[in-house]
Amino acid sequence: MIHPFISGNKWRKLKYILLEADHLGKKHLVTFGGAYSNHLIATACAAARFGFKSTGIVRGEEVQNDILMLCKLFGMELRFTDRSSYRDKLLLFSELFGDDPETMFIDEGGAGELAVKGCAELITELSEEAYDHIFCAAGTGTTAAGITHGIGEGSLVATAHIVPVLKGGEYLTDVIKKYTPHQFEMHTDYHFGGYAKTSPELLDFVHSLCRSTGILIEPVYTGKMFFALFDLASRGRFAPGSKILAVHTGGLTGLLGMSSKFNQAATF
Ligand SMILES: *Cc1c(COP(=O)(O)O)cnc(C)c1O
Repeated sequence: MIHPFISGNKWRKLKYILLEADHLGKKHLVTFGGAYSNHLIATACAAARFGFKSTGIVRGEEVQNDILMLCKLFGMELRFTDRSSYRDKLLLFSELFGDDPETMFIDEGGAGELAVKGCAELITELSEEAYDHIFCAAGTGTTAAGITHGIGEGSLVATAHIVPVLKGGEYLTDVIKKYTPHQFEMHTDYHFGGYAKTSPELLDFVHSLCRSTGILIEPVYTGKMFFALFDLASRGRFAPGSKILAVHTGGLTGLLGMSSKFNQAATF
């Protein structure tokens, strides 16, 4: 609802990073992502919107797809990088841009303290405080850390529920604890095999939620989060009458390039 391309949590993650870039007199934003990264599109669009030049360093061999096409439409210059050099992002950045004072390094997914601060605002903007449970999907865990922090610092009694979309999401517990001292609950069994992996059951669930509510979700993040929420509810995890807030983190451009997956789903 925030913006079609600087969507959902990506807007909140970029807000203070862009203010910092402006404050430091930066003219050029450089960031990182996979070939289907919602963060790359968001950064490309935000750069265009707020008058920065942008470069996206893309993991893996050169490819073309709808997401990267949108990045290029927003004026982002793309540089494809093999997977081993991609690992050391700071090194890659310094090789390409040296210490150019006008160029700003933005970590993959915009992860970092400034992004946590932006995501915590999501909680302070809630018009209603009486939630018992607040759910969100986690990739880097930055958004989850912000939400957890926002709940803990405010007057809310809600429990933060975090659904990692990657396999082995247990490690996010430590990542989140670095950003906030507040409590949260992790649900690590809803990754469906790993990042961007799906199953017929997940695709059917996504289809069913979209067609029964008119709310569009996608299988990479919000689909897994809603699946977890419904599954936990069916197991009696929530007391009757509980008020639950599910945070739709956006990312609907992730649906681009997924038509063949959906065409294999039973209900589609
Ligand atoms: C990027 C993204 C996330 C993950 O956010 P993190 O802060 O990296 O955990 C969740 N949902 C959607 C739709 C996203 O695009």
